[in-house]
Amino acid sequence: MKRFVTIGTGPDTSRTAIEAAEANDDVWATVGLHPHDATTGLDDLPDPRDHDRVVAIGECGLDFFYNHSPQDVQKDMFARQIAWAKELDLALVIHSRGAWPETLDVLDAEGIPERTIIHCFTGGPDEVRKCLDRGAFISISGIVTFKKADDVRAAAGIIPLDRLLVETDAPFLAPVPHRGKPNEPAYVPFVGAAVSEVKAMAPAEIEAATWANTATVFRLPE
Ligand SMILES: [Zn+2]
Repeated sequence: MKRFVTIGTGPDTSRTAIEAAEANDDVWATVGLHPHDATTGLDDLPDPRDHDRVVAIGECGLDFFYNHSPQDVQKDMFARQIAWAKELDLALVIHSRGAWPETLDVLDAEGIPERTIIHCFTGGPDEVRKCLDRGAFISISGIVTFKKADDVRAAAGIIPLDRLLVETDAPFLAPVPHRGKPNEPAYVPFVGAAVSEVKAMAPAEIEAATWANTATVFRLPE
């Protein structure tokens, strides 16, 4: 792995991500508020305009699987972060779990930013088509290597090469054969290899496509 986008999920982690990016030429950061912590509000997040290595807003979105914050507050914070990404011309990183219809409703109401990533995609062909129809990039995690994840593999099979991304979701979701251990960027090639199997392509083709797409969606230098 040669380049990293490290993710903020609240005020502290967004600041940590920015510090890592400012200290390392191969790291970029996002600023966002995770739906779990939606009640925290956006006021304490660092201002991306003060930090030129911030490339995206998020992760933000809806998590109606855990419901750690009330659903109406989650929707409000998600809508505000969509607007923020558009206002600052940054990419948007979305977390959606157990809330596909509502995630798409909020996106449609606000208008989806030009550069939007559905992170750690969990769903099947129906959901991925709805995201692709709206112009989103789809990021596949280690779940694609899990035995029971036939729906995610089916979805990965229909993502066009120019909309495909791969990620860790570290420290979670380490791919097979490291499943259950803390995840790390060095394991991303196992994700790419699993996607290449689904698509019956060489791993190098997936590597080239996801490298290019990452540069495009986050506007990283070539
Ligand atoms: Zn997430």
